Amino acid sequence: MSSTKSLIDIGIQEFIRFLRNEDISRFYFVYNPVEKKVISSHHQLQPLADFFQSDKRDFMEHEGMFFQVTNEHNTLQGAFVHRTCRGQAAGGVRYWHYDTVEAFMRDGMRLGKGMTRKNALAGLWWGGGKGVMARNPEIASDDPDIRASVYTEYGEFISSLRGCYVTAEDVGTCVKDMERVFSRTRFTTCIPESWGGSGNPSEPTARGVVSGMEAALDYLGMGGLSGKTVAVQGMGNVGGPLIEFLFEKDVARVVACDINPKFVEKLWDQLRNENLDARIVEKDDISILSEPVDIFSPNATGAVLNPQTIPLLKARIVCGAANNQLEDPQRDDQALMDMGLLYVPDFLANRMGIVNAANEQYGYVNNDPLFERHLNREWKHSIWQTTLRVLHESREKKVPTAKIAMRLADVLAKDKHPIFGHRGLLIIQSLVEDAWHEQVR
Ligand code: NAD
Repeated sequence: MSSTKSLIDIGIQEFIRFLRNEDISRFYFVYNPVEKKVISSHHQLQPLADFFQSDKRDFMEHEGMFFQVTNEHNTLQGAFVHRTCRGQAAGGVRYWHYDTVEAFMRDGMRLGKGMTRKNALAGLWWGGGKGVMARNPEIASDDPDIRASVYTEYGEFISSLRGCYVTAEDVGTCVKDMERVFSRTRFTTCIPESWGGSGNPSEPTARGVVSGMEAALDYLGMGGLSGKTVAVQGMGNVGGPLIEFLFEKDVARVVACDINPKFVEKLWDQLRNENLDARIVEKDDISILSEPVDIFSPNATGAVLNPQTIPLLKARIVCGAANNQLEDPQRDDQALMDMGLLYVPDFLANRMGIVNAANEQYGYVNNDPLFERHLNREWKHSIWQTTLRVLHESREKKVPTAKIAMRLADVLAKDKHPIFGHRGLLIIQSLVEDAWHEQVR
């Protein structure tokens, strides 16, 4: 394997074979801010470091990106530490299928910097990072014994990183998997409730979405949610409770859809509200977007806002929990603005999942003020206040909302933790000094 192109373009299993041939089981890429250069642990991998260096789309001077190939089940595992000024990098671990090394690396970089922005905008004293593991198509990755092994090794990997990254649950990972991670490291959240974890974050997330909707309505001078109409795509863990909360706020009508009949029937049985129009749809059915409602709320999958769907929208406001709603963040953010739509950025509206889990180690109190302040109207970092600030600045500067929110987040992300300062960077330096990649496993 000689050229950069071939290394970044190959499939994950071929990459693993290459690493094994070269006797590499752990490797890293670390950004040197003085030299402004990405340094690789291994000269054989320097072409990949050069690829990151030249990438303008997803690489954003990530402080450190660490990887290992598992001893069993040939699985590539990564920890993308983006920024640790505000504290240890926090973000969940995704277990997903990736066709190429490039797809894997890009997802980790993109998600890592997304977590920095989400955490900073939420005023959390946490940095941002993300775990990514590539499903090996040659094994039954849902087999309980295989999962146990893969996640146990991930826990060992996280411990080896000495706390520069604190992991959590994400797409493809469940609480049972987090038990395995926790069996090998203290640097994780989202452990079972019976072990001191914070439990299912979906209801808090739905409450955060409601707060974002209320702020957008207020901004438009449309009052509260009472009497409004909302279209909800996805009736799962977040969409279900969201619909319940909307009826508690006395909305006039909810049109909702899901591709899974179980979720539709369950919610209908639970609510039996004649103002709920719940539909089972096919995966590519986008008719929900053209519903004549006040608010469209995406709570299913990403990339739902794109050139094909945006012109269909009849709502005044888009606000939901789904991650990465804009297929192309720049193009689609601008398109929404050009149509006169108010878009509440996903990473602002859906923050309550990470808020719920991030501070698990500080214990729990009833009506926790450190949690509730995100949902009140006074705290300067609350969803309400931040949404209003973003909407006002967007209008004043004629810049789309997601861009404004990212700018605000990027400024906040540089604030140093009031006690620990930029300690994550020191941890990364220590790992490099101690040749982390050569340590025997
Ligand atoms: P979920 O899997 O429980 O629910 C998603 C639902 O969307 C499922 O019921 C699925 O059948 C449905 N769906 C998928 N494709 C669809 C389509 N084309 N049309 C209609 N329905 C479709 O997931 P969730 O936990 O409710 O999360 C929803 C979204 O919010 C995800 O994008 C997730 O990443 C994001 N999010 C969730 C949380 C949380 O706390 N759960 C926090 C932050 C962000």
